[in-house]
Amino acid sequence: MNVHSCTIIVISMNLERSKHLHYLNALGQGQDELDFWLKQHLHVSAIYWSCMSYWTLNRKEELQKEQIISFLLSCLTESGGFACYPGHDDHITNTVYAVQVLLMLDSLDRIDRDKVATYVVSLQNEDGSMKGDRWGETDARFLYSGINCLALLGRLDMLNKSAAIDWILKCRNFDGGFGLCPGAETHAAYVFTCVASLAILKQLHRIDQDLLGWWLSERQTKNGGLNGRPEKLPDSCYGWWVLSPLAIIGKLDWIDRNGLINFTLSSQDQETGGFSDRREDIPDVYHTCFSLTALSLLRYPDLEPVDARFCLPLAVTKKYNL
Ligand SMILES: [Zn+2]
Repeated sequence: MNVHSCTIIVISMNLERSKHLHYLNALGQGQDELDFWLKQHLHVSAIYWSCMSYWTLNRKEELQKEQIISFLLSCLTESGGFACYPGHDDHITNTVYAVQVLLMLDSLDRIDRDKVATYVVSLQNEDGSMKGDRWGETDARFLYSGINCLALLGRLDMLNKSAAIDWILKCRNFDGGFGLCPGAETHAAYVFTCVASLAILKQLHRIDQDLLGWWLSERQTKNGGLNGRPEKLPDSCYGWWVLSPLAIIGKLDWIDRNGLINFTLSSQDQETGGFSDRREDIPDVYHTCFSLTALSLLRYPDLEPVDARFCLPLAVTKKYNL
């Protein structure tokens, strides 16, 4: 199955650790810039991406713990969900990111877990799917966010599990992958959300793992990078979206490791630090997070191991028996 096993590719670049730390330290400074206000809708997400980047680089002690916690708590709404920024509406995406960061910082006791869990299950539809917020948009990302969040809160028993599992299995396609809803084309990001959800719910035996592994391994392009769908350009963040389901089903060796490491390292900004989607584009914290976590799954030296199901440090998920 490993079509790349006969090719010997040497890793040709190094990870620019100190530059990435410099890039991360500079984020959030200059808060009066227009750019900062334009990105308010990403604020809680950016905190998660940044925390995971520091942690994966083994530098979690540099996180401003109390500052981060007090900002997250200021985003908690009356409903029990988190908004992206104080004064905005709550959403499942901000809620799971906030809960993930609070767990990383050993601070889940700072919130009312039952209230947050009640908010999450209030978004589940009768067919098992989950809305992103009270306005009702539904897709597999939101159900994964809800399942991840409830597991971290220790409240998975509040989910309608059988309906959730049925709905996820309806998102599966003839190629072994998953789309954003039943009938939608397979896409790597939705493969991650569906496979990670099934792994958390201990239902991996319900899928054809060889067929899924084949579709995922076919995402590797000639330059070593991974794409999200056939015929699309490779992108460093698909290092995470494609590798994490492969890690979950134990088939990481179905792709060419060194080729992907080279592609990911070529997406580093050699001057400013940070990763972009591909060589010579502008770096951002989202691609920095998922490039580093992908390198960790590839066992690149001196990176903190990551739990592919939750995209959290393995040390954290082990500590809490997840
Ligand atoms: Zn990307």
